[in-house]
Amino acid sequence: MRAWILSEPKPIEQKPLKLVEIPLPKPSAGEVRLRILACAMCRTDLHIVEGEIPLPKLPITPGHQVVAVVDKIGDEVEDIEIGERVGVPWLASTCGECDYCRSERENLCDSGMFTGQHVDGGYAEYMLAQAEFVYPLPENYDELHAAPLLCSGVIGYRALKLAQVPHGGKLGLYGFGSSAHVTIQVARHLGAECFVITRGETGQEHARKLGAVWAGGPDEDPPELLDSVIIFAAAGELVPRALTHIRKGGIVTCAGIHMSDIPEFPYEILWGERIIRSVANSTRDDVRELLHLAAEMQLQPDITVFDFEHLNEHLLALKQGKFKGTGVIRIGA
Ligand SMILES: [Zn+2]
Ligand SMILES: [Zn+2]
Repeated sequence: MRAWILSEPKPIEQKPLKLVEIPLPKPSAGEVRLRILACAMCRTDLHIVEGEIPLPKLPITPGHQVVAVVDKIGDEVEDIEIGERVGVPWLASTCGECDYCRSERENLCDSGMFTGQHVDGGYAEYMLAQAEFVYPLPENYDELHAAPLLCSGVIGYRALKLAQVPHGGKLGLYGFGSSAHVTIQVARHLGAECFVITRGETGQEHARKLGAVWAGGPDEDPPELLDSVIIFAAAGELVPRALTHIRKGGIVTCAGIHMSDIPEFPYEILWGERIIRSVANSTRDDVRELLHLAAEMQLQPDITVFDFEHLNEHLLALKQGKFKGTGVIRIGA
């Protein structure tokens, strides 16, 4: 089979990913082998390829928004059939025994493994996954539109839960890429009014088209005080700005896995019980809930489809913001 592998992290401009021919992997007990149909690109793939987050396994095949068909089943696997269409998200496995795992916070498990970081991911023709960490996909989705739900969708959904926007409340979304354009649809479905800050007229236009009541640039302030802000952009300077945009008791949620340093700010903009928090990964329940909601509300990610053979170039296009919505790599049929 063919797989993209990263042996040494480098700027994506230097094409660090290589397409190689390797043997088909065999599923161990508890695992399934998947024939991959599509894998959506995520900014985390860039952080991995460029070495901005720890890389415990090298070489590694990145990719963690995978739509695939079950192709082979290992021992001790139940409730899953060959030929079933499933999704694979970022969370690849947990210990199941620590305090976090036993208190519905398995996303924080110290032994958590992540797809495309600790175990090989979806930029390949086949991969292995823990059977308990793959999910049947809603039938009313094709594989290309289902793929962005698995990280962009799920992380946005978890951020939205942590943002605690009251029904009919005002929510800011700062940065308007893959995850935010899905999250705005879910947020509106759940009754929030959305205000978007993003660079460039194209992104702002896209936000308005998806129902933002206001969209502006990074130097602008929303016209009203917000209940909550989710920051998708990796720019730490947005955190103090967002604090000045929320009312007392409001929450600023940082949804990215990586962010530049947050500049110093006066205590008075945090005063009034304002909260700053991050979102780390997601739980299996987050994935199940989001997939259920997506099917119910007909959530429609905007996608740009790319071929399998030029992954370095497609990730460069993501870095440069050259396409809107989510980039999806078509891999199999
Ligand atoms: Zn654990
Ligand atoms: Zn991701």
